[in-house]
Amino acid sequence: MISVEEALAKIINSIQILDCEEKPLLDCLGQVLAEDVYSPFDVPPHDNSAMDGYAAQSRSIKGASYNNPKVLRVIGEIAAGEVSDLKVEPETAIRIMTGAFVPGGADVVVPFEDTYETDRKGTSISTTEIGVRVGLAESCNIRRRGEDIPKGELVLTKGKVLRPADIGVLASLGKSMVSVIRRPLVGILATGNEIVEINRPMVAGKIYNSNSYSLAAQVIRCGGIPKLLGVAPDDVKQLTAAVRKGLECDMLVTSGGVSLGDYDVVKQVLAAEGNVSFWTVRMKPGKPLAFGMFRRSDGKEIPHLGLPGNPVSSMITFEVFARPAILKMLGRNNLTKSNITAVMEDAVGNKDGRRIFARVVITRRDSKYFARITGPQGSGILTSMAKANGLAIIPESTREVKPGTPVEVMMLDWDEVHD
Ligand code: AMP
Ligand code: MG
Repeated sequence: MISVEEALAKIINSIQILDCEEKPLLDCLGQVLAEDVYSPFDVPPHDNSAMDGYAAQSRSIKGASYNNPKVLRVIGEIAAGEVSDLKVEPETAIRIMTGAFVPGGADVVVPFEDTYETDRKGTSISTTEIGVRVGLAESCNIRRRGEDIPKGELVLTKGKVLRPADIGVLASLGKSMVSVIRRPLVGILATGNEIVEINRPMVAGKIYNSNSYSLAAQVIRCGGIPKLLGVAPDDVKQLTAAVRKGLECDMLVTSGGVSLGDYDVVKQVLAAEGNVSFWTVRMKPGKPLAFGMFRRSDGKEIPHLGLPGNPVSSMITFEVFARPAILKMLGRNNLTKSNITAVMEDAVGNKDGRRIFARVVITRRDSKYFARITGPQGSGILTSMAKANGLAIIPESTREVKPGTPVEVMMLDWDEVHD
């Protein structure tokens, strides 16, 4: 038997980061930036008003107060989006809207609420003058040119995982196409004579193919693109053809046919098509696992992960091995899921010294996390996975976890920690 870490290291060491693609900005969310992005101009490109108000000179309103307003002559108006060649002179003001370029001569914007503006609404008070009720220091309510991003600055660095704010920053630079590391296409092939596709009628002795769907959903969740390759029966010819189809992808994931007792058609085909190792991993569920590299006719090497067929085992081995492999292809630095520590509320026994991934429901009470087992833990009981929001990790060396003991829990629905 090999440890989880040994198996994972062997897989990760064989995986290459994918090449990049240039695509529309919004499609890049969650992908890794493949270029350094410098700002070609100042953002904002000009000084602009942070308020609706009056652009003026701070000297002209020095000492103004509620009881002692300064009256300025209004010489014009500038709306957002307009460029004006009006100039503010001493004792004058220009009515200005938020976001409008600040006119020459002005060094301050007085918000409407500090002027006569509000009193004047609906009255006959002249619009050619404005009373200002505060003195303001230079630059007040003006957003300075380049205060967000100065021209030439390195704004986003290659390797960054793009989040909504990063998408916004790139938009503020007018960047409509972005170079990112592309998403891997992951082929998913179910194997077994007893497996039926979900759009076919149920027949005695068969079960529906649930693995391909849970695995495809997991692929989507971690940023890959699944390609469903259907179900291959335990037949050399058909299985070989299906596996070869899978080599058009960046990675192939199969389920079933890798455990010891299996009718060994799957193993036979995998061994013939690639350089595959069959491991027994010190974990539960998910002991049997196959990993290998398949060489395509064009010389490209495609990694293959052969997951066990039991529905819970295939999902957990995906979480532990396939997910980090996909994240590496995506160019991510952090391949580990965020773990928490929770107090176990049920007893868990560990008879044979494997690492147990127990399906648990995590709740939070009084700023502490608690873990309860989701019920029967058979590796065929897929609903035990559906009920769980975490996997409690019971170490190989722990014979028994008693209620009240703290355990490490991998949170199934938490996002990646971005790096
Ligand atoms: P295997 O690893 O092929 O021996 O399969 C182990 C168990 O998982 C068997 O009970 C299979 O019927 C079940 N199984 C295998 N593949 C699937 C699948 N695609 N969907 C649901 N159950 C499966
Ligand atoms: Mg099988």
